Amino acid sequence: MTALPDDKGYYGDYGGRFVPDTLMAPLIELEAAYNAATKDAMFWDEYKSLLKNFIGRETPLQHAARLTAHLGGAKIYLKREDLAHTGAHKINNAIGQILLARRMGKTRIIAETGAGQHGVATATAAAAFGMECIVYMGAEDMARQAPNVFRMELLGAKVVAVESGSRTLKDAVSEAMRDWVSNISNTFYLLGSALGPHPYPKMVRDFQAVIGAEAKEQIMAAENRMPDSIIACVGGGSNAIGIFSAFVDDKNIKLTGVEAGGHGIKKGSHAARFSGGTPGIFQGMKTYILQDNDGQAELTHSVSAGLDYTGVGPEHAWLHDSQRASYAYVTDDEAVAAFHLLSKTEGIIPALESSHAIAHAVKTAPQLPKDHIMIVNLSGRGDKDIGIIQRYAEEQA
Ligand SMILES: *Cc1c(COP(=O)(O)O)cnc(C)c1O
Repeated sequence: MTALPDDKGYYGDYGGRFVPDTLMAPLIELEAAYNAATKDAMFWDEYKSLLKNFIGRETPLQHAARLTAHLGGAKIYLKREDLAHTGAHKINNAIGQILLARRMGKTRIIAETGAGQHGVATATAAAAFGMECIVYMGAEDMARQAPNVFRMELLGAKVVAVESGSRTLKDAVSEAMRDWVSNISNTFYLLGSALGPHPYPKMVRDFQAVIGAEAKEQIMAAENRMPDSIIACVGGGSNAIGIFSAFVDDKNIKLTGVEAGGHGIKKGSHAARFSGGTPGIFQGMKTYILQDNDGQAELTHSVSAGLDYTGVGPEHAWLHDSQRASYAYVTDDEAVAAFHLLSKTEGIIPALESSHAIAHAVKTAPQLPKDHIMIVNLSGRGDKDIGIIQRYAEEQA
């Protein structure tokens, strides 16, 4: 795996720790605790045992035979993170961080959530460990993802509606950081993606690296060789960095991250940071962000709440600039079409986030030879999105 970040949390120019003084102390405490945990075999043994017995890993790597035949090109495999407990990859990280919280003696867990998937994963982990849990969520996202709000409450979490700004994920992040500053002694901030100030991007990547590690073993078992390409959707970037991490050292493997193109690359209509964004500082890190000339965050849009975010994880900014990975986008329409296609050809209803990765495969696989092996990370299941799909169809009609 890559040696980055350096000990200040930089991936080339990106990452770092751009926070007010009040947040420095808890971040340094967290970093020290994480560094100690990484050297403790018992910590990883317990994490691995929970991956198996609580999350149900490993998740399958499935040859998508009918999708492959339909597209008529590359041989497509799906990494089935939708089959992980709670229905998405986010639980891998939530379980890792909650183990760290317990090790640090923290009893109160706070989190932010966009699609609600990270909130559900956090509430699940907190319930399983008997900890208090408060989840900040943009009011707009709460309306879009009502079933996940109810799910979190069933799991014993308190969901706090955030009414500021665009009432989406970035506003929820700000609110969670505010809470953390005021309640440092007993509170652990469980961040949901590979972003924010150091050490979060590294820590979240490490907890999601299991996706890539499994996929590598599984493709070797199935094909007796490494894949030619990997495709994953990129919101904050955790499922993508999790699967990329096992393959990044092998330069022959093409890595593609897929961002939300929304209604197309016009201001306020998308969340494709590498197509419409520029480097800047945002919520504790230096990375690509969607910003106006004054450095103010622009509004973003995506049909998928989990990809609808202003900034991207800093390791992706580094992979982008160093050209080790490339970043494409697909529009809402293309993602929704891929959602329907996977449902009908494979009997798998994908999350709208994951549908972006599928849509990129739909666009590119037909031009590739039949012996090209492509792995698409299916980051989550789409049950949470069926209401959105229904409304989408009504609006088109
Ligand atoms: C949250 C979410 C994403 C986007 O988050 P990343 O950190 O970029 O992985 C993608 N897919 C699903 C199913 C999600 O819930």
